[in-house]
Formats: sequence, structure tokens, C-alpha cells
Amino acid sequence: MSQKEIEESLNLLEKNWEIDPIIREFVLGKLTDVADHTVKVKDVVFHLPFLTGEKKFVLWKCYWPDCHNCCDRQGRLPLTSDDLITIGKGLKYQKISEFIKKETVLVTWQEPGPSGQYTSMTTINLKRKEDETEADDGTHISCRFLDDKGGCSMHPDRPGVCYLYPFSTWLENEGGIARVHATFQFTGDCPGFYLADNLDPMKDVLKEYSPIIYDYNMKSNRTMRESFGSVNFS
Ligand code: SF4
Ligand code: SF4
Repeated sequence: MSQKEIEESLNLLEKNWEIDPIIREFVLGKLTDVADHTVKVKDVVFHLPFLTGEKKFVLWKCYWPDCHNCCDRQGRLPLTSDDLITIGKGLKYQKISEFIKKETVLVTWQEPGPSGQYTSMTTINLKRKEDETEADDGTHISCRFLDDKGGCSMHPDRPGVCYLYPFSTWLENEGGIARVHATFQFTGDCPGFYLADNLDPMKDVLKEYSPIIYDYNMKSNRTMRESFGSVNFS
């Protein structure tokens, strides 16, 4: 996402939520005194921003059900092979092939990596609106499965990726062992970021998300191996 797009998202967000001015500057990439603080929680290495000038961590909590902005401004819903089975069944399809044909769109997109490199991803994405095409990929669409109470009509069988936001995750090869890493994605759409002196307020969230993130990575990796998607490093 470009800085302009993030700024537009933040401006919209600020119509309904009060955003700390320091968080705003940080999300817009205007702060330079940012250190990467890593903390391992179970099988996941989390990378959390530490603002060295402020001596504060950037942490997160979710405001749902008062907020459902991530579903209102959903950019894409890549599916794992497990998702294809559970969501296909949930939408009453007898055959996965029929579900894929009617409810999904095949998309290739560039994923920015943690060290500035780009990875080309090809994934089967759940349509966020019935007439979605590849041209809509990455645009903000209010997801058709968001119900009038701000919940997901597919819950708990919603796409695995929906459980991740606002984290983004990747695998790194550490001496032949695949290690799962996670960090926040700052799209300007989430009001849940705040400043804190230490990691204590987020300890339970990290414990809750660690197995979710680990499982998602394993499922996503298996999806690529089963050729329901592909990944190319450039
Ligand atoms: S946008 Fe952020 S605070 Fe709102 S529901 Fe999504 S994750 Fe929670
Ligand atoms: S599938 Fe459900 S959780 Fe995911 S974006 Fe749509 S409404 Fe939100």
C-alpha cells in the first residue's frame, strides 16, 4: 500500500475513532526512531515496534464488536486448502470444484517482505462481493459475509486469514527448520493500536494469537505444496 492510500484510510478511520497523533505519524512512516523488538511466544517470533524516542511499544487490541472496519474495508481473502473444504461445505456446495468456480477468483499479487523484498503470490481468493474479478484485488470492499450486527455470517468457519488481521506472517529458514514470524500490518484501517511502556498489556493477546498464526502458516504452506496457490521470490 502506498503512503497516500494509508493516509486516506487513516482519514476515514479518524471520522469514528480517536487516533493517537504519534501512532498516526508512525503508521504513515514518518518516525525514524523505530526499533524492531522481537519476542518469542510458543512457536512464533513476534516483531513489535519500539519507538526509541518515546520509549514506548506500539501494541494492539481489538475493539470488536464496536469495530468491524477490517471486514468493511477488506482487501483480499486468500484461501487455504482447508478453507476450500470448510467454506465450500458451509456454502452448501457438494463439490469443491463448483465452489471454486462460483465463489472464488484466482489472483496474483505482490506481498512486501520484512526486508523490502517482494514475493509474488498466486492464490484462490474468496469473492468479497458476488461479481468480484481479479481487477478488484487489493481494493477496499465491504465483505458480503459481514452481517448487520457486525459479525461474520460464516463464523467460526471463516477464512483463516480473517483470524490473523492485523498481523502479517512469514516463514524463515533457520538452520533447516521453518520458523514462523509475525508482525503488524499498518494499513490505516485498524483503530486498535496504542502506545505502552512494556509488553504486559499484550501478553495474553500474543499467547492467544501464537497458535492461530502458527496453524495458519502450516495450512498456507500445505496449500502451496498441494498447488492450490504458488509463491515466487524476486
Ligand atoms: S479493524 Fe482492528 S479493532 Fe476493528 S475489528 Fe478489525 S482488528 Fe478489531
Ligand atoms: S469472511 Fe467474515 S471475517 Fe472475513 S472479512 Fe468477511 S465478514 Fe469479515
